[in-house]
Amino acid sequence: MATNYPAHIWHNGKIKPWAEATTHVMAHALHYGSSIFEGIRSYETPKGQMIFRLGDHLKRFYNSAKVYDIKLPYTQEQLAAACREVIKVNKLPTAYIRPVAFRGAGGPLSLSADAPIEVAVGAWMLGAYLGDGVLEQGIDAGVSTWQRFAPNTIPAGAKAGGNYLSGALIAREARRLGYGEGIALASTGLLSEGAGENLFLIFDGVLHTTPASASILAGITRHCIMILAKDAGIEVVERDLPRETLYFADEIFMCGTAAEITPIRSVDGKPVGTGKPGPLTLRMQELFFGLFKGTTPDKHGWLDPVA
Ligand code: PMP
Repeated sequence: MATNYPAHIWHNGKIKPWAEATTHVMAHALHYGSSIFEGIRSYETPKGQMIFRLGDHLKRFYNSAKVYDIKLPYTQEQLAAACREVIKVNKLPTAYIRPVAFRGAGGPLSLSADAPIEVAVGAWMLGAYLGDGVLEQGIDAGVSTWQRFAPNTIPAGAKAGGNYLSGALIAREARRLGYGEGIALASTGLLSEGAGENLFLIFDGVLHTTPASASILAGITRHCIMILAKDAGIEVVERDLPRETLYFADEIFMCGTAAEITPIRSVDGKPVGTGKPGPLTLRMQELFFGLFKGTTPDKHGWLDPVA
């Protein structure tokens, strides 16, 4: 995980020193979780540095804002330019980019108040999110005692700051119990997703992933994996999955912008398949990372140049 942040950040329309991008302690979002954000990666490729699915991430950012009536004072083009700018100004060779918008300080501190909206875009270098070597070796996961929020409580499809109280409970419990990550069930008792990652289970050469109705964030990496698999003639099924399928699966992996494709080698202490990343997981990693190495053609126009 990044601990050294770069020198500059984009905040409310301007590039400024990282330390100067501050807000007031009475900011609405700090009290009520009223923020929305994105996590985006850029990669080095043979054609220069590329931002992965920038337009799709920003589209989700605007959709999340719409759910909470957060009126973004910038166009999608301006925010795309800000994403490129923070990479360039900090001379980052690869980046994890974090756009965030939130209800700030200045208005009445009430739930329905339209506090002034602040927007920032930070970027820094980020290695494997779930730890060094996990992409190769996989992680040990555990099913959380915390469930994801029910669909009629907090919308899982909006990437809002407040949602991540759930993610933090799941992730912190998992770390406390010695797991690399936690897997949550939905309020239905069926499988949902990881604390900050979507799930794929593999049975007999077919990829199975949980549906939007299982209180997941419909991940852009998940979507990319579904498309790459279909392009490669690998079947993908989106369906309800009961918990025990975690113990029956031949292979399991988690995916997300930060986690990329992280194999799961055990769940609740039970080995997944052979206990090592399986062939289809490795194949999906090869296709996914191939987009950046240049071995998987960018057929869908997912790569956006930084320069
Ligand atoms: N689920 C949750 C709860 C997440 O926070 C993330 C990370 N944004 C994902 C899934 C994966 O989404 P994406 O592939 O778009 O990063």
